[in-house]
Order: sequence, then C-alpha cells, then structure tokens
Amino acid sequence: MTENHLATSHLGAFDYDPAPESASIARLRDAYGLFIDGDFTDAASHASFASVNPATGADLANVAQANSPDVDRAVAAARHAYDTVWSKTTGAQRAKYLFRIARLIQERSRELAVVETLDNGKPIRESRDIDVPLAAAHFFYYAGWADKLEHAGYGANPRPVGVAGQIIPWNFPLLMAAWKLAPALAAGNTCVLKPAETTPLSALILAEILQQAELPAGVVNILTGDGATGAALVEHPGVDKIAFTGSTEVGRLIQRRVAGSAKRLTLELGGKGANIVFDDAPIDEMIEGIIDGIFFNQGHVCCAGSRLLVQETIADEVLRRLVRRVEQLRVGDPLDKNTDVGAINSAAQLAKITELVAAGEAEGATRYSSSCELPSAGYWFAPTVFANVSSSHRIAREEIFGPVLSVLTFRTPDEAVAKANDTNYGLACGVWSEKGSRTLWVAERLRAGVIWANTYNRFDPTSPFGGVRESGFGREGGRHGLEAYLDV
Ligand code: NAP
Ligand code: MG
Repeated sequence: MTENHLATSHLGAFDYDPAPESASIARLRDAYGLFIDGDFTDAASHASFASVNPATGADLANVAQANSPDVDRAVAAARHAYDTVWSKTTGAQRAKYLFRIARLIQERSRELAVVETLDNGKPIRESRDIDVPLAAAHFFYYAGWADKLEHAGYGANPRPVGVAGQIIPWNFPLLMAAWKLAPALAAGNTCVLKPAETTPLSALILAEILQQAELPAGVVNILTGDGATGAALVEHPGVDKIAFTGSTEVGRLIQRRVAGSAKRLTLELGGKGANIVFDDAPIDEMIEGIIDGIFFNQGHVCCAGSRLLVQETIADEVLRRLVRRVEQLRVGDPLDKNTDVGAINSAAQLAKITELVAAGEAEGATRYSSSCELPSAGYWFAPTVFANVSSSHRIAREEIFGPVLSVLTFRTPDEAVAKANDTNYGLACGVWSEKGSRTLWVAERLRAGVIWANTYNRFDPTSPFGGVRESGFGREGGRHGLEAYLDV
C-alpha cells in the first residue's frame, strides 16, 4: 500500500463466508515415479523432490527426478511405440483414444481441478471452469482431426514427424500438457513430455488417465524433473521435434542448441500484451476486461494484458475505477470458491515480481496496491496498478508475470499503435471500442499473434495461438496447430 486512499474505497465490497473445496478430493499419492513405457517407474538415480503447495508452503507429494538415463529410456520407449504401434494405427483408431482421454478428463475433472489448484496456487474457480474444461476440449477437438488430416490443408497424405519432446511451464500445467499432447497424438507422433518442476502433479494424474484409456505403452511418456531434464531432452539425438513453452530466455537457449540439427522446433515464449482502450468503449465491460486481462491466474499468463493503453480523455476515470475494482478482488485461499486471486507459484517468481515492482517505484511510477490482507504462509502479492508509467520504464518493457498492471496513455489511434508495438514481444493485444472500423484499423497494425476485440484472455481449441518476434513461432490450436506435428 503506497496510496492510502485505497483503504477507504471499499465501496460495494461484499463479505462472503468461506466456501472451500475439499483438498481430500485430490487423492494424491505420497510419491510418483516417472511415466515411461506405460508404467510408473523409479528414476535410475532414485532421486526425487517434493512438489509444494505455494499457498501454504506444505509438501504435496514426492516426484521422481529424471536425468539423462531416464530421458534415454523414455525416448527409446517413444521411438519403439512409434515404429511398432502408433505409426501403424489409423486416424480413426487414434481418434478413439483421444476421445477416451477427453472423457476421462471430464470424469476426473473435480479431482484434476483440486490438484491443479493445490500444486499451482490458482483459484479453484479458474482451474474448475477454465483449465480443466479447456484441456478436455483440446482432446475432443484434435480427436476430430485425427481421421481427417488429409483435409487439413497440408497435402493429401500428411505424415507425422516422429518422436516429439515437449517442455511446458507452470502457469497452466494441465492445459499446456493438453495443448502439446492432443495435436501431436492426433497427427500420429509419440511424445516425451516434461512438466515444470513446481507443478508436476496434474501431468501425473493425466498419466493415470492415459493408462485408464489404454493408450498403447510408450506413446506418451512423462518425465518429471528440472531444467536439466528439459535440456537433456532437447539434446537427445532420438528426438525429431522440440515443442517448448516457457520464457524467452530458455527459448533462445533451446534454439541455439537445436540449430544445425535436423530437429524441428516451435517456441511459445513470453509477452507484454497491450490492452488498448478507446473512449467510446462501454466502460463497465471494459473495466472487467482490463481486470481479467491482468489478474486472471495471478497475472501468470504469457498473453496477459499487462500494459494498459488508455485514451487520455478517459484516463482519470478508468484509473479511478480500476483502483476501486482492484480493492474488491478477493485474494486468499485458492481452494475457496469465492477467491479471485490466488498464490504466486513460487518463491522465485515472487522475488521477480517484487524486484520489478520496486523498480517501478524507483523509476517514478505511481503505485496503487490493494490493501487486502495476505496470508502469512506461502507466496502472495497484492494486486497492483501502476499509473504514470512511461514506455521506457522497466515495468512497461519487461514481463512481470504477476498481478501487476502498468497504465500508459495515448491521444490518437496512431499513438496507441506505436506504443503497443514498442516492445520486443508480440504475443497478444486487446482493443476496446464500439467502432468496428477503428478496431480493425488498429488490429491490422498491431504486431502480435493474437488480437482480442472487446474481450481478453479468451481461449478456444479451434483458434490458433502463438507469437511473433521474441514471443516465439509456431501455432497451437486450430488447424494451424497440426502443422507443428506434421512433416510438411
Ligand atoms: P522457463 O523457466 O523457461 O521454464 C519452462 C520449462 O522449461 C520448464 O519445464 C523448465 O523446467 C524447462 N527448462 C528450464 N531450463 C531449461 C533448459 N535449459 N532446457 C530445456 N528446458 C528447460 O519458464 P517458466 O518460468 O516456467 O514460465 C514462465 C514463462 O513462460 C513466461 O515467460 C511466460 O510468458 C512463458 N509462457 C509462454 C506461453 C506461451 O504460450 N507463449 C505460455 C505460458 C508461459 P523447470 O520448471 O524445471 O525449470
Ligand atoms: Mg507446486
């Protein structure tokens, strides 16, 4: 709290009784092995580490630490499954497995939502209503493509790539696994997936689901571990394709490692999305859109609308309303169904957010943070809005990946476009206006892979998602998402 008028702006806040979802629904085991060739097995080194609940700091379960020999085993299993089974199945047979997986995700959706919330810290409302249903939807969607690949626009007989190594981050653990696995399997590839170190658990429940679906052994292998596990997968000569979602920094490293090899590569990296609001947009909807654009999933969203560009004529009113709305956000127990903003995923991420927010204050921006009470255990950060931000400030240039919004202003559409494009990233932008012609004029000029109009953070398996410039290359979702896994 730096601006004390926030504390008195509690207008319209309701008090709710706690409505916690039960953690026991997670039914977590004490320890999980690596999922290789259809079974859970110990790591060769027998090493393991604990996955932690970031909302309490408590250990949730122990997972195996995969090292190079385990990567060798998993890649060999994927290759064998590719050669002997998966490349020989028809599209209709592959579709049958994908439909089964989708239905089993739905059947176990409550358990998956609770596991995701425990392991990641995100509100149960989001894991229940967004992460898990979208993960199922992805499998349903790509199941539909599996027997229609020749109609996808990639030639008469599109071939799979082979063995795909897939590395995913911690912000949408199950959903990112679905984004990677569903199109790869539909196209006829086999997979070795590495979940993030801090959020491995939903991928291990997914491994159980793959067993339930009787997916042939070795078609999907899941290796828990750290960055070194990911690096070993990237280096492995038996992998035909690397699909990576994560930071631009690690993406660059991977691109260098893969250069000169026959491996294919797609990268989904960071972002610094501009949410552009014009003075003719309906203000109530716009305020909710701005809030959702940055505080959804604690702002741990690569396409977050982390830079608000607001037309100068309405800047004062928008800021006043935003600050009031931020004060009403309910921050706390992620398992509580009323919670809007949950825990920060790790101590490392909290340190990064704290450092960038301090830089924002030091560089002269005006900070408004919610006066909400933060739990004493675990990792938390109060939702924050910065006004008087200039394009050169670090908080306007660097990805914070937390619940922090930087507000800048503009006068004309030209200036809005220039400021929105003044970034090394190019993942997503939002435009808010009543005028369709203006929205299209702006959208045509924005350099970003995804542009939302009068909405934000809207995801659908039928719609391609991905970046330009330092946000990476390749698309996930839609017909376009198949290209990454076809030899075209
Ligand atoms: P990260 O550090 O790049 O990690 C991503 C994944 O890569 C994790 O599984 C990580 O393992 C692994 N990894 C780390 N070092 C590696 C290496 N040298 N070689 C191979 N793999 C390695 O990113 P993060 O902090 O988890 O995620 C946040 C970033 O992801 C943000 O920048 C965000 O914008 C981006 N993101 C992008 C999208 C998109 O679709 N464009 C979606 C979500 C997130 P460990 O977890 O064990 O370190
Ligand atoms: Mg965790």
